[in-house]
Amino acid sequence: MTTVDTQQTLDYERLFLGGTWATPSTGDRIEVHSATTHERVGSVPEGREGDIDAAVAAARHAFDDPTGWAHFTPTQRGEALERFAKALEVRGAETARRVTVQNGMPTWLSQQWEQGFPPMLVRFFVDLVKQTQEEIRPGLLGKQTMVIRKPIGVVGQIVPWNVPQAITFLALAPALAAGCTVVLKPSPETVLDAFLLAEAAEEAGLPAGVVNVIPGGREVGAYLVSHPGVDKVSFTGSTAAGRKVAAACGELLRPVTLELGGKSAAVILDDADLDSQLEDFFGNTMINNGQVCWTSTRILVPSSRYDEITGTLADLYSGLTVGDPLDPATKVGPLVSERQRERVEGYIAVGKQEARLLVGGGRPHGIDQGWFVEPTVFADVDPKARIAQEEIFGPVLSIIRYEDEQQATQIANDSDYGLGGSVWTADSDRGEAFARTVRSGTFGVNGYANDPVAPFGGVKASGLGRELGPEGLAAFQEITTIYLDRPNA
Ligand code: NAD
Repeated sequence: MTTVDTQQTLDYERLFLGGTWATPSTGDRIEVHSATTHERVGSVPEGREGDIDAAVAAARHAFDDPTGWAHFTPTQRGEALERFAKALEVRGAETARRVTVQNGMPTWLSQQWEQGFPPMLVRFFVDLVKQTQEEIRPGLLGKQTMVIRKPIGVVGQIVPWNVPQAITFLALAPALAAGCTVVLKPSPETVLDAFLLAEAAEEAGLPAGVVNVIPGGREVGAYLVSHPGVDKVSFTGSTAAGRKVAAACGELLRPVTLELGGKSAAVILDDADLDSQLEDFFGNTMINNGQVCWTSTRILVPSSRYDEITGTLADLYSGLTVGDPLDPATKVGPLVSERQRERVEGYIAVGKQEARLLVGGGRPHGIDQGWFVEPTVFADVDPKARIAQEEIFGPVLSIIRYEDEQQATQIANDSDYGLGGSVWTADSDRGEAFARTVRSGTFGVNGYANDPVAPFGGVKASGLGRELGPEGLAAFQEITTIYLDRPNA
């Protein structure tokens, strides 16, 4: 362990690769600042091409070892991964705190997502691998066939800053459980939590090279994506970057899972009792300061109840507690960075031209530091407006009026994206029927939660492939058929 913790800053001098804390290939550093106070909170080495080369070589060696990780039984891997889950739990509260400091995620949320999800996902996928059997199929040609699953190989994993730990484990947990080895590249904005993950992997005694962590920017990410030693890429981030990653993987014919942007719709039906569902509705629309890919940032309101529901929504979003994300009472914290606030404020300026400002639209009064913007809601938004079509990634919502359910479906589907969404109704059967009409990878009825048992992912510009569930495990497995010399039973 190589932390220097003086004056409460966290400064790491080495990189975790090949099972040890290695000297970085250059002296370049990533400085980390609080989203709330702008104070410097730590620094880590900035990974460069030489570090990726070393990490991929370590991951390759660990994967190719004929008696190594890929050849452990699911039970043997499960024992090591249970130690990993425990080591993550020991660090869980500090992981949540670091994420909150770095990206402004409210503490009640980082305790659920960043502290709670990683060990849960590790255990879920360990159990799933144990349950996945080799299959014998009676053949049509007289003999039996066997279908087996092998780990897909060395995984290059790239994650964003908005939910850094939970997103990491959506792919890291199934990859490790399947027997893959991983080179993880966290986003420069959120690196201090990734070093806790590395410490947990070390403490758990995962074999050298099974987990490697190289923080860095987009160039080093692109280098990892195309590295000849990588067998599979797992990318979560913007659609623009995802297209570049997809192009590189296409050229190499390299399997890739892409979890990209979104512009989902929350459709309020005319029988909805929204007043009794405000907490869940907030959770589906503006959680994590609006910095979540699947949030429903378009709110579709029926014409028959437009004024009443718009009033309810105005009360909800103007009444949110905005402030220090480390305070458990805070609902909305700062954005991750100055760049992100500039982007969001640019969209608010566009919205003021395109629609009627209902709530917010500026910076919160009485807060003079931190990358805050007020929770902002526009009403009377045209479905074709830029603020209704483009991903803003901040606490900015668009209310769109519709006349009937058919038009609601048409507006919900009028998007380049298709990742999340929800329907709100007093009649859950009606909600289920509506959910079937929307073109989206996931959709919620009177709520939205990524249950690990079910696949999560997007259609259209929201991505390729699925995480979570058996489908998310299969993404890290190669399916091999053996034509047996055995007659059908
Ligand atoms: P981003 O695309 O700028 O960066 C994401 C990660 O990719 C970072 O680690 C970055 O360094 C790396 N990167 C950027 N360009 C790259 C390239 N050409 N090759 C390889 N790596 C590259 O996105 P961001 O601003 O960090 O994150 C916000 C975006 O992520 C939003 O669009 C959001 O919707 C999306 N997101 C999607 C999901 C999902 O599951 N679908 C989850 C969270 C975030």
